[in-house]
Amino acid sequence: MRVTKKIKEEQIRILGEVYKDTKPALIFRNPFELLIAVILSAQCTDKRVNVTTARLFQKAATPEAILSLGLAALEEEIRDCGLFRNKAKNIMATCQILCEQYGGEVPADFAKLQELPGVGRKTANVVMSVGFNAPAIAVDTHVFRVSNRLKLAAGDTPLAVEQGLMKAIPKDKWSAAHHWLIWHGRNICKARKPLCGKCPLADVCPTAIDFQPSP
Ligand code: SF4
Repeated sequence: MRVTKKIKEEQIRILGEVYKDTKPALIFRNPFELLIAVILSAQCTDKRVNVTTARLFQKAATPEAILSLGLAALEEEIRDCGLFRNKAKNIMATCQILCEQYGGEVPADFAKLQELPGVGRKTANVVMSVGFNAPAIAVDTHVFRVSNRLKLAAGDTPLAVEQGLMKAIPKDKWSAAHHWLIWHGRNICKARKPLCGKCPLADVCPTAIDFQPSP
């Protein structure tokens, strides 16, 4: 199947229809909590991050409060999230910068976010799009896999896929499309065994595997 502009538009239409009511899986109340949750989510499930942040933010929910908590106590709080020493070090350094340079606020600026320790392109895009409602597409493992399988945006690197998605999807849908692709990757287009037989996109997917039309 050649994935034409028209097919990409249909893929986007179906994704938007199927996942129109989805929300971010991470629980947060403001851009700072979102930033910490996304840093913690590296190689950890959103469910576990939500349990950890619910506990952590009861004790410390601002950069100042996390600095006061101290490195050792923060490590204990986030231990369940994996890579906790590195994450705690990055969170402390990020909180320090937020306090010293941004008055304790998270900057709504992609380049400034990317300069924070533990914040890469994906995290900065999530904070911009989900935290500040700015048009951005964060490419995580689900977005990368689903975009390549659909050939909605094919690419060898997250950056190439991000750029392809920005071309294929209207700007006003970038942030929403990020969530649609994540939910589709989690629920249907799974990494090891995609559920192509149940997939609403099977008719417009060039890599549909074992697809059986319903009788
Ligand atoms: Fe993924 Fe299969 Fe659906 Fe294509 S048809 S998007 S490979 S689940």
